[in-house]
Amino acid sequence: MKRYLIIGNGVAGTTAAQSIRELDRDGAVTIVTEESVPFYSRIKLPDYVAGSQDVDDIIIRKDKWYKDQDVELNLDVVIDDIDPELKVAVDRNGKSYPYDTLLLATGSYSFIPPIEGSGTGNVFALKTVADADRIIQASEGIKNATVIGGGLLGLEAGNALLKRGITVSVVEFFDRLLPRQLDTEGAALLQKMMEDMGFVFHLGAKTEKILGAEKVQGVQLDSGSVIDSDLVLFSTGVRSRLELAEKLGVETDKSIVVNASMETSGKGIYAAGDAAQVEDLNFCIWPEAQEQGRVAGINMAGGKESFKRIVPSNRLKVAGINLASAGDIDQDNKLEHEVEKTETVYKKIVKKDGAVVGCIMLGNTNGFSDIVKTMKA
Ligand SMILES: Cc1cc2nc3c(=O)[nH]c(=O)nc-3n(C[C@H](O)[C@H](O)[C@H](O)COP(=O)(O)OP(=O)(O)OC[C@H]3O[C@@H](n4cnc5c(N)ncnc54)[C@H](O)[C@@H]3O)c2cc1C
Repeated sequence: MKRYLIIGNGVAGTTAAQSIRELDRDGAVTIVTEESVPFYSRIKLPDYVAGSQDVDDIIIRKDKWYKDQDVELNLDVVIDDIDPELKVAVDRNGKSYPYDTLLLATGSYSFIPPIEGSGTGNVFALKTVADADRIIQASEGIKNATVIGGGLLGLEAGNALLKRGITVSVVEFFDRLLPRQLDTEGAALLQKMMEDMGFVFHLGAKTEKILGAEKVQGVQLDSGSVIDSDLVLFSTGVRSRLELAEKLGVETDKSIVVNASMETSGKGIYAAGDAAQVEDLNFCIWPEAQEQGRVAGINMAGGKESFKRIVPSNRLKVAGINLASAGDIDQDNKLEHEVEKTETVYKKIVKKDGAVVGCIMLGNTNGFSDIVKTMKA
């Protein structure tokens, strides 16, 4: 009986477990995770912070699934060390997890830039249910919050705080919102829509320091102006978790280097999801992690499958605003493109050699999925 050990119960790890089970009914599939909650949707964490969903609503795999699939899930377990010769992982309490084949689905952590005051109380990032719980608790009775980073997650988390009755300011280093998903014109329309909802934006602004001794009292920008804040939420990107890969001595770059079969440079060791990069690419998005988990699981169980690049696409999940974008959005309008705009709609289709390579749909996202299907990665 083959023993499969999966570290991480996010979408990559859980999808891998499912793929393994489809091919190998008898093997022992074990998942370990530091978290206290079975596989849940990180995408829905802003809804949880807003109070519109509770933990049960965002859990994707309940206990029954693990029982039915005969997958052993170990919560609250931190793997500290792995011996690739003996093929055994060891947790913080000294418990051993022997394996024949290993998957590092260790995901990513929220990057917090080294800004003075970032260690002050009430400074957060949103990555896990535990983070969300801390944010919810700290947001009780406060008036002002500042989100640092005007990307998708920053805007969604900001909206969650807005729904809790808090005034939300967003500080963005670029001179427009969603610099990776929108061009200047699209961003201007989105900014207006969100200002109408109550957001306050500081664009082209850099955070100098976070003020306050024990708890946040304000955010000082490099212009010298200070934003009144009782809470700060960083949304300044993620970094792959590499600590176990480094201990194992497998090749790493920004993420764990894997081939299209999701194999690392270590024999019998696979990696997938936010932790892994294929051909130098890692978008750190859900569909990519899911597909890599699927491919890794198949190959771990003796099947044969290759990861094919995906077109990165994203939707802003803020009620009342329809926004989706995918592929190359042609920020500088250098490629062939068609634009359709009204006061409330901005649509841009980008083409290269006649083929669609990117799109922005703001105000009306009808047909988005169909357009993405026609795009090549
Ligand atoms: C708030 C939020 C909103 C998002 N919204 C979107 C969206 O709208 N669209 C989209 O495409 N993507 C979105 N993403 C990104 C998406 O959720 C991630 O790309 C995806 O969850 C990555 O899955 P993963 O399985 O690779 O890693 P993760 O989900 O990060 O899971 C890794 C797990 O491994 C565990 N782990 C790591 N090291 C150890 C160890 N040593 N011992 C034990 N356990 C360990 C971690 O605790 C974690 O539970 C969002 C992310 C967040 C945080």
